[in-house]
Amino acid sequence: MKRTEPLEMYQPTSLQEASRLVKKNGPGGRFLAGGTDLVIAMKEKGLVPKYVVDLKRIPGLTGVRENTDGSITIGALTTMREIEISPLLTRKYPFLAQSAAEVGSIQIRNRATLGGNMANATPSADVAPSLIALDATAKIVGANGERTVALEKFFRGPGQSVMTADEILTEITIPKAPSRLVGEYIKFSPREMMDLAYVGVAVAYTFGENERRCQGVRIVLGAVAPTPIRARKAEAVMEGQLLTETLAEKAGEIAAQESKPISDVRSSADYRRAMVGAMTKRALLNAAVGPAKSWVERRERRY
Ligand SMILES: Cc1cc2nc3c(=O)[nH]c(=O)nc-3n(C[C@H](O)[C@H](O)[C@H](O)COP(=O)(O)OP(=O)(O)OC[C@H]3O[C@@H](n4cnc5c(N)ncnc54)[C@H](O)[C@@H]3O)c2cc1C
Repeated sequence: MKRTEPLEMYQPTSLQEASRLVKKNGPGGRFLAGGTDLVIAMKEKGLVPKYVVDLKRIPGLTGVRENTDGSITIGALTTMREIEISPLLTRKYPFLAQSAAEVGSIQIRNRATLGGNMANATPSADVAPSLIALDATAKIVGANGERTVALEKFFRGPGQSVMTADEILTEITIPKAPSRLVGEYIKFSPREMMDLAYVGVAVAYTFGENERRCQGVRIVLGAVAPTPIRARKAEAVMEGQLLTETLAEKAGEIAAQESKPISDVRSSADYRRAMVGAMTKRALLNAAVGPAKSWVERRERRY
């Protein structure tokens, strides 16, 4: 769609200035990060923001760092590509790096930011399930100060989060995890590349010291409810139990019952629910054998 009026664009150099600009100019503005969602919405979906506040000149919003307490903080303007290849994340949480690698194409990942993926709040956002499985929190800064929200509680519905219009997501923090933590993210989209998830499943758990007992189990489903959701009943079935194929299958069946998919042009609700079952089972078993070594192996281990 062609704009009829010029677009007011601001490039603040501090968070305070950015939130002040939104307060001053009022509703109808948008923050801009990588632009891979916003520009498409403006060009193809008829979105006409009153003004745009570009966040890219604000220092301190990019990068992955390990804190002294062992937690890891990822700046909101860190790109998917940076997450995908981060030495720290690929070593500590390979399934999180893998979920970033699932986003679009390399061109998209070079622009798409973590903050944009969360703030856009699409139920199929690829990185959300892995981060929720890691008990991540979001730091949000606005004109009235800052607050921290569990990422699990961040999403409100399609395109909606707990943030108000003047608030900026500044970083995501993953608390220190036990050394024996394992995880997996599986995305189902028939075209494999450049397609949104029809279903996404992330799992994380730790093995007991001397046996394959699962503890701290997290099973998080994407694209099968208005927001990413934890399959808590399926988690409870796994908790404290020895990992077996039968148990993983049972957890999958329960996760499928917990999902609330819709039918749309891409897939029926029944098909999505069946995929949740198969993918949850596969993710729970894959996690135990460690991260896939290559794209080919990853593809073969999918469902
Ligand atoms: C061809 C294509 C393929 C794609 N494939 C996938 C895919 O496979 N998986 C997937 O998950 N996504 C996919 N996407 C969606 C998109 O790339 C991601 O959601 C991306 O991470 C958005 O980040 P961004 O920096 O581009 O956000 P932007 O477009 O800059 O912003 C998106 C929204 O978030 C707001 N926002 C951005 N940053 C902040 C912040 N720090 N604080 C507050 N609000 C903020 C903006 O105001 C805007 O409303 C695809 C997009 C395209 C165009």
